[in-house]
Amino acid sequence: AKANRQGMYCFYEPKMDQSEEMRLAMELDLRQALAKDQLEVFYQPIAEISSGKTIGYEALVRWLHPVRGYISPAIFIPMAEEIGLITAIGEWVLRRACSDAANWSDTVSISVNVSTVQLKYGHIARTVEGALESSGLAPSRLILELTESALVGDNADTLKILTELKRFGVCLALDDFGTGYSSLSYLRNFPFDKVKIDKSFIDEINDNPDCLAIVEAIVRLCGILKMGTTAEGVETQAQLDLLASIGCELVQGYLIGRPMPLNAPSGPDRPHVSA
Ligand code: C2E
Ligand code: CA
Ligand code: CA
Ligand code: CA
Repeated sequence: AKANRQGMYCFYEPKMDQSEEMRLAMELDLRQALAKDQLEVFYQPIAEISSGKTIGYEALVRWLHPVRGYISPAIFIPMAEEIGLITAIGEWVLRRACSDAANWSDTVSISVNVSTVQLKYGHIARTVEGALESSGLAPSRLILELTESALVGDNADTLKILTELKRFGVCLALDDFGTGYSSLSYLRNFPFDKVKIDKSFIDEINDNPDCLAIVEAIVRLCGILKMGTTAEGVETQAQLDLLASIGCELVQGYLIGRPMPLNAPSGPDRPHVSA
């Protein structure tokens, strides 16, 4: 028997589906991952196209499972959201990222992903305030990345939380832009400073004229709204050249650098390598 989210019990057939069994085992392991010190934060550089300089890093969590090796956050973050662990994991990542970044050059920013669940139920303002205080990081160097799915629901509540966060002096970025169902209204209704254009658009800009037109329009719109644009998932020089030609400000992707642990040869605490 397994408690579902409503706290009711559902009974599985004696011969449990193997993938279901695996998922349950993984959930059990995930509950202990924090205590067992199995989570790590990797950092991926974000570069300014005009100067080629790395101006910041995105913190991306990794789970080093003792048996299964590295498990992707695309798998365990949704799981953590479902079983009520995301608030603890998110706070741990935020604190780690802020204290790491406090040791870097004070022109370098740190972007941290905030889950929908954390935003709605996780006392995010208090958590951010605590992480800034204990790390001593200047608030202006912290960028919180929120996905469009975080903004669905009660607009008044969300706006209140985002406004509170803005009062600390942190930046807000709208992540995976273009993939939600109401992207433009989010720009109108919420106080974002930056937009990250989803990789799915960047993937096609060299082959699909419509895709390029959309990305170009996003960059122009954000320029008018005084918001910076970051293209995510940039993998080729051809993509970078095209993004430069349409005036995109920042790029992130394997072409610039992969996510890496803090002490990697060209990691965040080493002299910065330009793009
Ligand atoms: P995201 O926020 O869209 O992060 C970008 C993802 O794209 C990362 O995957 C990154 O490694 C990958 N990526 C970057 N450049 C390239 C590229 O050029 N090519 C390709 N193929 N991939 C690229 P990752 O690290 O596996 O994270 C997946 C997602 O998990 C993230 O997507 C984010 O939504 C979530 N996530 C990661 N860390 C955290 C965290 O600390 N908290 C929360 N709430 N979510 C997180
Ligand atoms: Ca992100
Ligand atoms: Ca993203
Ligand atoms: Ca994405």
